[in-house]
Amino acid sequence: LSISDRLDLAGLEDLFSEDERAIQQSVRAMCERRIDPYVADWFERGEIDDIRGLTKELGQLGVLGMHLTGYGCAGMSGVEYGLACMELEASDSGVRSLMSVQGSLAMFAIWRWGSEEHKQGWLPDMAAGTAIGCFGLTEPDHGSDPGSMRTHARRDGDDWILTGSKMWITNGSVADVAVVWAQTDEGIRGFVVPTDAPGFSAPMIKHKMSLRASVTSELVLDDVRLPGDAVFPEVRGLKGPLSCLNEARYGITWGAMGAARSALETALTYAEQRTQFGRPLGGFQLTQQKLAEMYLAYTKGVLLALHLGRRKDAHTLTPNQVSLGKLNNVRAALDICRTTRTILGANGISLEFPVIRHMNNLESVLTYEGTVEMHTLVVGQALTGEAAFR
Ligand code: FAD
Repeated sequence: LSISDRLDLAGLEDLFSEDERAIQQSVRAMCERRIDPYVADWFERGEIDDIRGLTKELGQLGVLGMHLTGYGCAGMSGVEYGLACMELEASDSGVRSLMSVQGSLAMFAIWRWGSEEHKQGWLPDMAAGTAIGCFGLTEPDHGSDPGSMRTHARRDGDDWILTGSKMWITNGSVADVAVVWAQTDEGIRGFVVPTDAPGFSAPMIKHKMSLRASVTSELVLDDVRLPGDAVFPEVRGLKGPLSCLNEARYGITWGAMGAARSALETALTYAEQRTQFGRPLGGFQLTQQKLAEMYLAYTKGVLLALHLGRRKDAHTLTPNQVSLGKLNNVRAALDICRTTRTILGANGISLEFPVIRHMNNLESVLTYEGTVEMHTLVVGQALTGEAAFR
C-alpha cells in the first residue's frame, strides 16, 4: 500500500464529495509545483521569493477569499476552504498564513463590514491576488486582551487621524491595504488604510525562529490622515475583529492537520526506509506505538475539522466550537511533529525534511489567533458559565 493509502486507514476519504476532493487535489498540485521545492530555502533565508507572483498564482487558483461570494470571490463551501488550508499548510504554515490573512482576515473584514465602495475598491483585486491585505489588531502591549488597545482614531473635520502601532502583523510589509482596528469616541472601529498613505510604515520583524516563510511586521501609524469614509460604517466594539478571527481560526483547524499529515507521511516513509539493529525502525514496537498514537490524533483532528466544516456550511457553527477545533488540532499537530522528529533522529533537526520546519511554525500557530490558554478559557467558560479571563 502507498503511504497515502495507509494514511486513509480510517476511510475518511469517503466522507468528501468528488468536488471537494477535486479542489483539494488542484491545491495540492499547485503546492507541489510552486511551493514544496523551494519552501525549505525560503524558511532558511526568512524570505519568500517573488511573494507577489506567488500571491497572484494563489489568486488564479481561486483560493483567496474562496469562501466569500461576489466581488470576484469563488463562493466555495467551508469544507472546500478548509481543504485548501490543509493542503497549503501541508506545504508550510507560513504560506497558509499568507492565504488565511488575505482571505479570512483582511478580505472577510471588508466583505462583512465594509461599505459598498470598500468592497468594490478592494475585493476583486484581493481575490485575484494583485492586491495584498493585512489585518492589524495586536499591539506591542496588547495581545490576548485587544479590548485595551491604544491605537486610536480621532476626527479632524470630515477626516480621521489614525495614531498608534500594531505588532506581529502577517503580510504587513508587503500589503497594499491594511485593515486597522482602533479606539474611537464610539468604541473600537475598523479602518481601511491604503499602505501608501503618508504616515503609514510597516517595518519587517526580524529574528523569528518560526513562520520564517511569512512576512511579519510592525505597523506604525504616525497621524495617518484618512477620509471620513475610510471607516467600516456600522460595526462597533470587539465584535468586528472577533468575527474575522473566527473565520481564520476555523481555517487553522484544518491547516494544522495538513502540517500533521506532512509529518506523519515523513514518519511512515522514514520508519520504513531506515534500518537499525538489522530491521526497519517501523518494526520496533516503540516506533509503532508512536505511529499509532500519531495516526489516532490525526484522524480525530480531521474528523473534528470536518464536523466543524459541515456545521459551517449548515450555518450552525458557533465560535465556541471553533475554539474546540483550534485548541485541539494545533496542539495535536505540534505533538505529531515533535514525535516525528524523534523518529527521524538527527535527521529530524534538518531542513532536508519538513518536520522541524512544521514544528517551529506550529509554535506560532499555537499562539496566534487566540493562544492555547485563551481557547482553554473559552471552553472553560462554555462548560461552567464562569468567565476566568480576568
Ligand atoms: P500575551 O497576550 O501577552 O500572552 C502571553 C501569555 O500569557 C500567553 O501564554 C497567554 O495565553 C497568557 N495569558 C494572557 N492572558 C491570560 C489570561 N487571562 N489567563 C491565562 N493566560 C493568559 N496579530 C494580528 O493582529 N494580526 C496578524 O496578522 C498577526 N499575525 C501573527 C503572526 C505571528 C507569526 C505571530 C507570532 C503572531 C501574530 N499575531 C497577529 C499576534 C497574535 O495574535 C498574538 O501574539 C496573540 O494574540 C497573543 O498575544 P501576545 O503575543 O501579546 O501574548
